[in-house]
Amino acid sequence: MHSLPFVCFVCRKSFKVEWNDFPPSKNCPEVLGRRCPECARQLVYAGRYFKAPPKNALKQWRKVALLFRRGWRADSLSSGPKTLCEVPAFLQRIEARAAEICRETKRREAAERRRLAERLRVVQRRRDSK
Ligand SMILES: [Zn+2]
Repeated sequence: MHSLPFVCFVCRKSFKVEWNDFPPSKNCPEVLGRRCPECARQLVYAGRYFKAPPKNALKQWRKVALLFRRGWRADSLSSGPKTLCEVPAFLQRIEARAAEICRETKRREAAERRRLAERLRVVQRRRDSK
């Protein structure tokens, strides 16, 4: 059992929810079904290391909402941007890194395909020469 932070953006509060798996799927109906104990709106999974900003730190809550909308969660100790103004650069870095990983993966897959094709040619050549 994990005790994981969920947030209510209406009350600007975080709540610990007892959970079986980690991380909970963002699209799983049980996650979506969790309601805020104070206003009954839907709670959003915040990430294991989430620390809620003070209720009146509106810019911080806006920052969190922005990041969450882009799919970011506080799931690693390397924290996200500190301020609202740092969000665009942060997201750009994440996207650049994702694009880089995507290119690397494509390159690796292409190399693997070439290797397999070469292996196949060798086998066929051997078979032809028999
Ligand atoms: Zn609430």
